[in-house]
Amino acid sequence: MTTMRGPAAGDATLRRRIEPWDFQDFFDPRDLRRETCLLYEINWGGRHSVWRHTGKNTSNHVEVNFIEKFTSERYYSPSARCSIIWFLSWSPCWECSKAIIEFLHQHRNVTLFIYVARLFHHTDLRNRQGIRDLISSGVTIQIMTEPEYCYCWRYFVNYPPGSEVHWPRYPRQWMMLYVLELQCIILGLPSCVKILRRHQNQLTIFTLDLQNCHYQMIPPHILLATGLI
Ligand SMILES: [Zn+2]
Repeated sequence: MTTMRGPAAGDATLRRRIEPWDFQDFFDPRDLRRETCLLYEINWGGRHSVWRHTGKNTSNHVEVNFIEKFTSERYYSPSARCSIIWFLSWSPCWECSKAIIEFLHQHRNVTLFIYVARLFHHTDLRNRQGIRDLISSGVTIQIMTEPEYCYCWRYFVNYPPGSEVHWPRYPRQWMMLYVLELQCIILGLPSCVKILRRHQNQLTIFTLDLQNCHYQMIPPHILLATGLI
């Protein structure tokens, strides 16, 4: 239901929200900007209270910044169960994947779910292996689709009054292409989605190169969801 108010003035997350235009640019599946944005929530011990915050790259990648901040916070309790959800505009690079795995190794009480808007340099074999290593270490990784965009808008964006339901509607096909490519990574198949930026007209385009192995291994509903098969 649409309300005429933005986030309530007393909302404790208000200062930690990002602006609508930032969200729109950072999380557009077609936008290949270099910086990464992280929206995250931390839930301790299954309690109802959730800690939400946002972060961007500094001289470090945003994932490393998160780990440094998390491990230096005074509220950290090594014995309590902790569930963390990340909404990342780019998937982790292979170096961050290593850092995340090390972090999880040292914090056995932490469960990490990662939603990503785009796959970072996804044809680089090291990044592909990094994602597989994360999954083997118990991390859940999924591509952001409409429900996640809606959720992030509501809980992480300083949306203007009356715009509670006006989260950006990106083309579903782009999300489905990344879902397909993530499936290729998980199954150890060669990349089938190539993404290119045309600088003359600022257009991002993709090509799809499906081989027999893709048809044999990838569930048909994932192939069909791209609308190209
Ligand atoms: Zn990184």
